[in-house]
Amino acid sequence: MEGEAPMLSKSPITASVETLQAILNAIPNPVFLKDRLHRLVVVNDAMCALMGQDRDQVIAQGDQSLPGEQRDVFWKVDDLVFETGQPHENEEVLTDGSGSLRVMLTRKRLIRLPTADGEQPFIIGVISDITRIRESEARTLYLAEHDTLTGLANRTQLNERLHATIAAAANSGLQAALLMLDIDRFKNVNDHYGHPVGDQLLSIVAKRLVGLVRPTDTVARLGGDEFCIVQGGLHQPAGAYSLARRILAAIARPISIGSLSISVTTSIGIAIFPEDGATPEALMKNADDALYAVKRSGRRGYRRAENAAEPHGAPGWNIESELRAALKNGQLSLAFQPLAAAADGKTRGFEALARWQHPTRGTIQPDEFIPIAESCGLIHELGAWILHEACAAAQKWPWPLQVAINVSPVQLENGELLAHVRDALSSTGLPASRLELEITESALLDHSERVMDMFAQLKALGVSLALDDFGAGWSSLATLHSFQFDRIKIDQRFISHIESDARAVAIVRAVLSLAQTLNVPVTAEGIEDKAQFIALRQMGCNELQGFYLGAPQAQAKLPDALPWLPPAAPSESR
Ligand code: C2E
Ligand code: MG
Ligand code: MG
Repeated sequence: MEGEAPMLSKSPITASVETLQAILNAIPNPVFLKDRLHRLVVVNDAMCALMGQDRDQVIAQGDQSLPGEQRDVFWKVDDLVFETGQPHENEEVLTDGSGSLRVMLTRKRLIRLPTADGEQPFIIGVISDITRIRESEARTLYLAEHDTLTGLANRTQLNERLHATIAAAANSGLQAALLMLDIDRFKNVNDHYGHPVGDQLLSIVAKRLVGLVRPTDTVARLGGDEFCIVQGGLHQPAGAYSLARRILAAIARPISIGSLSISVTTSIGIAIFPEDGATPEALMKNADDALYAVKRSGRRGYRRAENAAEPHGAPGWNIESELRAALKNGQLSLAFQPLAAAADGKTRGFEALARWQHPTRGTIQPDEFIPIAESCGLIHELGAWILHEACAAAQKWPWPLQVAINVSPVQLENGELLAHVRDALSSTGLPASRLELEITESALLDHSERVMDMFAQLKALGVSLALDDFGAGWSSLATLHSFQFDRIKIDQRFISHIESDARAVAIVRAVLSLAQTLNVPVTAEGIEDKAQFIALRQMGCNELQGFYLGAPQAQAKLPDALPWLPPAAPSESR
């Protein structure tokens, strides 16, 4: 270097540019030299490649080619390095020429170089593409916190979330719940169908669980078939019991894997903060104990930790055995909701909806207990009871109106339904023409000829058949083609969006035009206000149902005079 000194002092940078440039070009990382005015003085090939320009353009344009805010950031950093003399590292995410995100690390340090005007400060910058490093760090972090099979939180993240949820609950004076659950006899699934099917089942269970909680709650898999849910912001333990019941129902729904349809049940232990434990450890232990108590008492159900300070507590609940008992000791009843003709608002009939009035738990919704009944086979007995009750009720009405009864897909699996319908009609004396069975579309997926045969026999009896919840997920034209239904009921999710969602309108219109072609009347469910009433009527629905026209009522409360008109029908003045 000594020997070069005179040359450098004459023309410091330009004089050594070729040698320097050759050395810099050999470095794979983008390298640049900037002066005090933020001008790029020297850049290497890798830098030119990064900027997508040739050297002359890069030098001429410098940072001017960058977006304003980014340039401001760079210049601030430059100034800082010039002022303090301290090296600086800056990481940023850029979009490269191919549109993928890259993470770039720019290291800047001050370097003093002799120039024609004496020694001057420059910044030497070296850029490294650290995308791979950051990706692998992110992946490691993800793996450290997530379960690889289901993508749910793992035990580590669960612990963190439980700590945080407890802290938030303590601050706000609210409660939190820890629900611990596992699949009953999951080993049988693995033994029968093999581990790949077991794994798929766990993934589906995981999705169903996630679908039941709020985004702020945490669903975790602890391993095997054990899951945990942390529910924050609870006002009372009842919120956790209601979640437990929804879980029982959601898991009880048959799970399709390939051509298999598998039914499983689950047991749930619950611990409530702060009553059942003030620390994550205590809550975990108490929820676990409660879970094992459910297992011991016959599985499928939920139980709150033993030390619950609640007056009524939530004693172990085996929903299946209680439902069996409820059927025997009169806790189940039917509510009747009017189905009104769109033309004049007159009641055409009533839909019978099952209700469970539990002595300590209050009203339990059919969406919670019907799936349980389906999964344990009780639905056949329950279905027979509902048929009989509904027909008997209708027979007592002073008007010869139809009663519509919901039939579960499971009831179609064996031939009992036909016998139950015959029994109900003959024992109550209700004419078959006054009975309508509502069948959800999903019921028709797996059952083909045998079910169609049963439908034909039901129709031969004089019973009518409605296709319920049309559009709720399984809709296919093949369903409509497969059987001549007497009525199609459009699922209420479309009705509730009818004023705001053009797609819902389009779907309702399409169903209506299809039904007109097939000459099948259409009922719209879930009409909640006048605007929906008018809209659906104008669109050409034949029949309307919903709170606006009448909520489900006990038999004793049904209006005692007909015709029975909805509150604001049918003037349609807006
Ligand atoms: P579904 O057959 O579609 O029954 C209509 C549901 O919508 C009923 O809920 C009814 O109370 C509710 N509903 C009526 N009008 C309105 C409204 O204007 N707005 C809203 N948001 N909802 C309205 P419910 O009684 O909770 O029943 C839920 C589901 O449970 C029923 O859906 C049916 O699939 C099933 N279910 C009810 N009773 C029975 C039964 O006896 N047997 C069987 N297998 N299933 C039943
Ligand atoms: Mg229905
Ligand atoms: Mg429906």
